[in-house]
Amino acid sequence: MTRIKILRNFVLASTLSGLVLVTAFATDSPLRLSTADTVITLSAGPEGPGVLSLASPGGETWTDHRAQSLIEKAQWNGTWQPVHWKLASVDRDRQGRSLTVVYECNHPHLRLLWLWQARDSSGPVEHTIKIENLESRPVALPLQDSLSFNWSVPASKPLCQMWIDKGAGKPTATGTHRVAISDGYRWEGTSSSYAPDGPDESRETIPWMLVEATDEPHSGWYLGIEFSGRTSLSLAREGSTLAGKAGLNPSPGSFITQVPGAGSFTTPTVFLGAFSGGSEAAGIVLRRWVARVLLNAADMKSPSYPLLAENSWGEGMEINEERAQSMIADAARLGLEMFHLDAGWFRGVGDWYPHPQRFPHGIAALADRAHHVGLKFGMWVDWTQAGTSTDPGALNMHDPRTRNWLTRDVPADWKPAPFKGVTIDIGYAPARAWCARELNRLVRDDHLDMLEHDGYLVAEGCTRGDHPHASCARSLLGPEPWLIGSNSTDVSYHAAKAYYQLYENLRLKYPHLLLEACNDGGRMIDFGTAAHTDYFSITDSYDPLSNRRAFYDASHVLPAPMLECYVEKYPARDLANFTYALRSGMMGWCTIMQDTTTWTVEQHRAAQRAFQLYKTRLRPLIRSGDLYHVSARPDGVHWDALEYFSPDRKQGVVYVFRGSTPTQKEDTFLLEGLQPGSQYQVDFEDHPSENRRVSGHELMRRGLAVSLPEPESSELVFITEIRSD
Ligand SMILES: [Zn+2]
Repeated sequence: MTRIKILRNFVLASTLSGLVLVTAFATDSPLRLSTADTVITLSAGPEGPGVLSLASPGGETWTDHRAQSLIEKAQWNGTWQPVHWKLASVDRDRQGRSLTVVYECNHPHLRLLWLWQARDSSGPVEHTIKIENLESRPVALPLQDSLSFNWSVPASKPLCQMWIDKGAGKPTATGTHRVAISDGYRWEGTSSSYAPDGPDESRETIPWMLVEATDEPHSGWYLGIEFSGRTSLSLAREGSTLAGKAGLNPSPGSFITQVPGAGSFTTPTVFLGAFSGGSEAAGIVLRRWVARVLLNAADMKSPSYPLLAENSWGEGMEINEERAQSMIADAARLGLEMFHLDAGWFRGVGDWYPHPQRFPHGIAALADRAHHVGLKFGMWVDWTQAGTSTDPGALNMHDPRTRNWLTRDVPADWKPAPFKGVTIDIGYAPARAWCARELNRLVRDDHLDMLEHDGYLVAEGCTRGDHPHASCARSLLGPEPWLIGSNSTDVSYHAAKAYYQLYENLRLKYPHLLLEACNDGGRMIDFGTAAHTDYFSITDSYDPLSNRRAFYDASHVLPAPMLECYVEKYPARDLANFTYALRSGMMGWCTIMQDTTTWTVEQHRAAQRAFQLYKTRLRPLIRSGDLYHVSARPDGVHWDALEYFSPDRKQGVVYVFRGSTPTQKEDTFLLEGLQPGSQYQVDFEDHPSENRRVSGHELMRRGLAVSLPEPESSELVFITEIRSD
């Protein structure tokens, strides 16, 4: 680590071996941070830092001449005080992997750490701002963006932007957006954990965006946010500038956050990466980075990740012990690997104990039953919801001892829905402590291998005055009418951090526990959740087309094993159509959400074969292969396809789906990631008479032709490079 400490006009540089006096202002020269894909240069000016340039080796260089905007005021001693930042020190490691620029302000006494790091040798770099309150009393801060940019770009440069809608309740019509960025272009994408589906144009986005120069060499950059609270990304082109920012969502305005004495505020971490060779190449690098840096390291070490699961929601709230036992027995016969007990097992919302009539022998006994036949056991718990149960251990919304944990008061006659009550604010320490005890009890006493959360666990807003977030009822400095309704971003800031803390602690205690993120389906697909759970429910619609669409979208930015599709009961016409529905949900993490005991003997055999194939041939490619979107997004009418190819294994697979089109019996897909000069053995799982040898050149330039005799059927085409001796 090298430290450069600024002292009046002198600069002291210290190394591990001792101090060296240097006379030049070392930060005059750009500070460089790099990975194999991303090279960024930064400046540490006397009153503020800057991002000077961003580039990928062999690609465009994006330059910025403006300083980063740092907060310019803070509430202290009853009034807003101007904040003047002065450079204090620059720390960087010798390998160019991390950099910390420190600024200080004397009145009030604050320290700002401008942090950059490259956690992997490839992919993006990450950036965070931490503001420490060095006073002994609280300070309130306005919104500090995580990152802003103001690239100089020639007005004639052809650019396009890409962003991805969340799968939420149902995938939108477009899902994956690619839009030309013309002069005057303005865009904003927001993310929270609870937005309703609404019209397609108002759908929340996975907090990520990409900008590509559409001329050769198709280079560009992408920016994502590692946070599950209310965040936003923006982009605007005006003349020769391309500007925008990322961080906490400033809407609905007047954001304020309170930092206790000796406490700190940390902006959501963002990642910034550069690429050349187009957005598919960027996606491959990003997904590898997410898998290596954000994803739980144990997952990719376990060869059975992602698991094949059976979920009880096919029975809805009517699930009971007898049904669950027969589903477990059948799941084991089918070769599935986990039984996942969904909502319906508990006494009531907030009362997370087994329903005495439906599960008279308790949950642990059922878990043991699953374990006995070789299955893991997972369970749904909406652990931030309070209900009306008065049984011992229940979280009752009317209990005067816990009523202020709720985000709002509820009328005395208010009734919870069958599996949803009122959210408690886990940013409030006593509420969080109850959740910690409850999560620990559930995992321990119910013998869980997997815990699924649901509902809006990052609170939507909160009116309480005694919680750590800024409040309309009682701000740090007394009543502030202009804060009314404006604190939802700060509520989400504290609640998201509490969610991470709870899950980090749970993982420490139960390192083999799997955590599924679900928020009414795919509302929490973000990079903060990716870093604290093991997989996502990507949409709350479970038909074949919704599954393929949600997967197509989210798989641009997140590793395929994390992306869970639930496969619901489907009125299959025949076995080909049955297998089509299964495969539509088998491109990442697959959970069967239907009572498989109702399947016919032929369907059982077909499913057994499909699951065995998944475990032996598909899963290794889903885990280690590069994913290519080799068709347009599925529309249910036309054909669609998706390719995995693993250069290490020299193997790949193409999932091919024929839509409802009655006339088009064949389609062709240009494959990617192959060696043009190599020969490939091409094997058709369902139609082996089509097997052939084809050159990489032909597969990539003329394409892979596939015929399917009936609409809404599918094929798996395995591609194996033939060793050339
Ligand atoms: Zn609150």
